[in-house]
Amino acid sequence: MPFLPYYDHIDPGQGGSSMVIPEWPKPALDRPQVFACPLCHETFSSYEDRFQHRFEAHPYQRPLLVLGTHEVNTPRFVVTAALTPEQIRPVNAATCRLDGKLVSSMALARHIAEAQSGFFKVELTGAEGKIKVDYEISIEIASDAHALLVEQEFARLYSPGVISVANISAFIRATSVARTAHRYVEGLAAYLYGILAKDQRGETTLSQEQGRARLNEARQMLLEIDRPLAAVVAGIVSFQSNAFSRSERLTAVPRLWTAMRWFDSVRTSGLLVPVARLDSHAAPNSRVPLDSTTDEILTWMNLPPGGLSDHAKQIGKRSQQDDWLPEDRIKAKVLLAAIYESKGDSANAAQVARAFRHDPVFGQLAERLISAGKESSE
Ligand SMILES: [Zn+2]
Repeated sequence: MPFLPYYDHIDPGQGGSSMVIPEWPKPALDRPQVFACPLCHETFSSYEDRFQHRFEAHPYQRPLLVLGTHEVNTPRFVVTAALTPEQIRPVNAATCRLDGKLVSSMALARHIAEAQSGFFKVELTGAEGKIKVDYEISIEIASDAHALLVEQEFARLYSPGVISVANISAFIRATSVARTAHRYVEGLAAYLYGILAKDQRGETTLSQEQGRARLNEARQMLLEIDRPLAAVVAGIVSFQSNAFSRSERLTAVPRLWTAMRWFDSVRTSGLLVPVARLDSHAAPNSRVPLDSTTDEILTWMNLPPGGLSDHAKQIGKRSQQDDWLPEDRIKAKVLLAAIYESKGDSANAAQVARAFRHDPVFGQLAERLISAGKESSE
């Protein structure tokens, strides 16, 4: 079973672990945080500026509870990462009730921010009492000790080197004492079940399609958890499903980060240009199990410049292979087109591009390659 190495910068001191964890070079992680508008994707340097813009540039009428980056549009919501009172905001609410009691919006925010766990009923009423919106908010924030225990048990999966349904059950059992990190365990387990199904190994009883659903559940759950391992696993699922834009938190996984950046630049520019690699002299200190398809794609992409074309035959074969999911076959086709184009063979690049002409992610690239192929044949 392949494993993807990454740099874990968790302080080993708190868990009593004796493992020496080298420091991951700081600059890559110290990039300024940006806050993107969920509607138009414009970016801002502060939470406050983004919040102002969101409701001034895109008016919204109904009462709405905003928790951190979430506009809560469902009656039930689970909070898994700590929020400050400033990140808990009722919008368009003339009155707020917390567990039936009338409270100010500040008191509501303070109460929810202070809770590490618990269940709250929130009711927001719009101007003139016209529209009422009810929420059930469950707070399930993992304690550091519990999150660390989950991560240590997850790391233990590396020593047998083979993941099976039995290993995953053992992981879930071993972490059952980590009561507050229940969602973290659930997200990681969904990921593990998902990759077994994707590879059709490890005694899985799920189909590849069912595995894909598990992987998406894992991504949803892990994106909400503010731990480096959660970010790495959610990033792997984004890569698997050709959602390449979310690479900010992936500098700890240089192989994945470089590949995400490359596909994202291909997707947005339609051009097959090289992107800078993230070089590091420290050795990675953690590993995440990976499905064999993602491992193979990342291996191709990590080859020295020019080395990729030696694999053209294999990449072409994979791009047609039934047991590869459509998203992965498309990635292989894009790489194959890149190989042809780098050799000046625009006729074959255009031929490959016809197969992903209608792909929502790579359509722009396909159109450019197809018209370049026509020009060269004239
Ligand atoms: Zn906007």
